[in-house]
Amino acid sequence: TERLLQKSEKLALLGQMAAGIAHEIRNPLTSIKGFIQLFKSNSLKGEYYDIVLAELERINEIVGEFLILAKPSAAVFMEHDIKVLIKDVVTLINTQSILNNVQIFVEFDRDLPLVSCEANQFKQVILNLLKNAIEAMPEGGNIDVRVVRKDEGSISVQIIDQGIGIPQERIPTLGEPFYTTKEKGTGLGLMTCFKIIESHNGKLDINSRVNEGTTVEITLPTIAQPYLIT
Ligand code: ADP
Ligand code: MG
Repeated sequence: TERLLQKSEKLALLGQMAAGIAHEIRNPLTSIKGFIQLFKSNSLKGEYYDIVLAELERINEIVGEFLILAKPSAAVFMEHDIKVLIKDVVTLINTQSILNNVQIFVEFDRDLPLVSCEANQFKQVILNLLKNAIEAMPEGGNIDVRVVRKDEGSISVQIIDQGIGIPQERIPTLGEPFYTTKEKGTGLGLMTCFKIIESHNGKLDINSRVNEGTTVEITLPTIAQPYLIT
């Protein structure tokens, strides 16, 4: 019976998630449909293509985040050099950060041990966190990424920004699907981060001060016993 209960709880959660996703996707879809109808009747000009494209991009992002979580079968855990993975992501996001007047500084401990992880998932976490850090600094600023070795067989990755910060009472809300304070946000980035780090037997801590900045810390075991997201 315990198993049954767990199952019905899971199903209830799944139902809530599905309703949330459907709702979030229906909004941009309704908007796109309206614009397409207006295009058809020729009463709108080209500038509205941008809105349609932005709405499509939003759907794409929402679906993309869920695909990452829905595909545990594609997860391949291997020993990786965290330095290489982080540098890859920083290179990827560099154009966006420069455009936003943000500089990213990366600092690694010497002799970092290899970490057993799913490379694409880990990169997705770093990408989502760096994006949030950039978006938290509309006037620009610095992001520090620090990777240190901890003594008890784990490493810590810190992503430190000088952004707007998060009010203390909001911290427990972080990681809930669709919680966002951004006009164009999906509220799915942190949820994905939490799930991925959990599946790596790690933890993700967020410390923040309003108007001072936010530090997100990932702690990962260096000898991981990975399990799949269920
Ligand atoms: P999104 O970025 O689409 O809003 P996320 O799940 O990535 O969704 O983040 C949820 C919310 O958490 C953001 O809308 C923002 O309010 C807050 N947040 C996350 N990271 C930061 C940060 N580095 N600085 C300030 N606020 C943040
Ligand atoms: Mg985000």
